[in-house]
Amino acid sequence: MVDVKEVAHKVYRLEAPVPGVNTIFAVYLIQESEGVLIEPGPTAAIPSIQEGMKQLGMEDLTYIIPTHIHIDHAGGIGTLAQLFPGAKVVVHPRGVKHAADPSRLIESTRTVFGADFEALFGPIVPVPESQLKVPEDGEIISINGRELQIIYAPGHAPHHMVIFDHSVNGLFCGEALGLPGSSNIIFPLPAVAPPSFDQELYLETIERLRQLGAQMLFYSHGGVELETDVLISMAAENTRTFGDIILKALKEGETLEAISRRIGDHVASHYGLEVNEMDLALIIAGYSFYFKKKGLA
Ligand SMILES: [Zn+2]
Repeated sequence: MVDVKEVAHKVYRLEAPVPGVNTIFAVYLIQESEGVLIEPGPTAAIPSIQEGMKQLGMEDLTYIIPTHIHIDHAGGIGTLAQLFPGAKVVVHPRGVKHAADPSRLIESTRTVFGADFEALFGPIVPVPESQLKVPEDGEIISINGRELQIIYAPGHAPHHMVIFDHSVNGLFCGEALGLPGSSNIIFPLPAVAPPSFDQELYLETIERLRQLGAQMLFYSHGGVELETDVLISMAAENTRTFGDIILKALKEGETLEAISRRIGDHVASHYGLEVNEMDLALIIAGYSFYFKKKGLA
């Protein structure tokens, strides 16, 4: 039974767990005169979405909006496009060709999640070009007077964007403001995925999004949070500090295990918490790739 909760006026959140993957996949439905789906997640999430829609009496979708095209946010868009042929799938210009022809996306998904990723996440299929909509930076999608503003938010990936819902002052932030994690204490980690993480852009995006003055953050791998300014500051600070620690360690020729321990010690001493090893490995790999690309390490 899917638990659908109204988290802001006409904004409904549900979690679509993917068996075998220890991450929160939060999906958001906006129920105006038309239905909007934000952060569809992988294909494996679709049955939960359909059940949530049924509970809400929502029969159709007008817009399907992933924040970016990584499989955990958008793996299901092609299958959803088939199920809802009247819907537009809104994708950043840097991601749109991969949505129409996901062959390269599938290849890179295999390198990150293994050759048999489909067994967990479900397949990635193309979105028909006629259903794709490429928004401009700042473009407003208006539904029954409700304004959803699309804002480009590069750093985690070049094809990342966020959605600012003016009617509730809430931001669907994807991975642009850190990875909140699933513990009770939230300390957003830098959301780093090799090979396209760019620390400089990530920090610039964080500061630009802070200016929106959002009063609510709708996380994709977490819940809905109201302490927006504190969380945004923490995301920026962690992004800088992790970068400093990793760059210093790389320059000193440390092994990945040693770097991992340094980060682990930092988080333990600052927050009294543990970071899971898979997240740490991804963070270190992403930063290393970035620093090498910049010629810094
Ligand atoms: Zn991602």
